[in-house]
Amino acid sequence: MIKDKLREEMRAKRRALTTDEVKLSSEKIRDLLFTLDCVKNSKNVCTFLSAFKEPDTIGIVSRLWERKVKVIVPISDTETNTLSLSCIDSMADLKKGAYGISEPSVVKTADEKDIDVILVPGLAFDRHGGRMGFGKGYYDRLLETSSAVKIGLCYDFQLFSAIPTESHDVPMDFIITEKEICEIR
Ligand code: ADP
Ligand code: MG
Repeated sequence: MIKDKLREEMRAKRRALTTDEVKLSSEKIRDLLFTLDCVKNSKNVCTFLSAFKEPDTIGIVSRLWERKVKVIVPISDTETNTLSLSCIDSMADLKKGAYGISEPSVVKTADEKDIDVILVPGLAFDRHGGRMGFGKGYYDRLLETSSAVKIGLCYDFQLFSAIPTESHDVPMDFIITEKEICEIR
């Protein structure tokens, strides 16, 4: 399947990134993110906590806390392939959860409806807002009825002119890489 082949190719490219490359690109992505008005004006931001050499969101979380923005993170439920949401107030309260992804050790339930901006991970994105995730539909289920501004974060090599998508795929409003902000119109 084309999608599986692209996913594997993106995983391999990401694995090959050095720690310094991840750090540098993550800082550029963070700086571009904070130029967006929707982010500057946000009160409740949901973000993934990075694993597998995804762009690092720790610097984003710190900056949000500095701005007194409420930070919400997803928690994977591997039985139902759904994400539940929890507020986090400190990095000290995290533990390794499903797939080795960090999650809060004490859950403070948050409501999807309160989120104004959500930062979404992915293996590939396109300039129409198309997103390819891990292949289990976690974010598609979470964002099915969401009105939050959806921002995909990835490296430049993960942004394509077009990737295969299906009707259940929820499109992004912006994709940010270390090179650019791609706004989907
Ligand atoms: P990903 O978005 O992680 O790349 P896919 O979009 O390929 O994964 O979706 C994986 C599976 O999840 C598909 O079989 C799809 O039918 C299912 N799925 C995605 N979104 C939903 C949804 N909102 N409700 C029910 N099933 C869904
Ligand atoms: Mg999908």
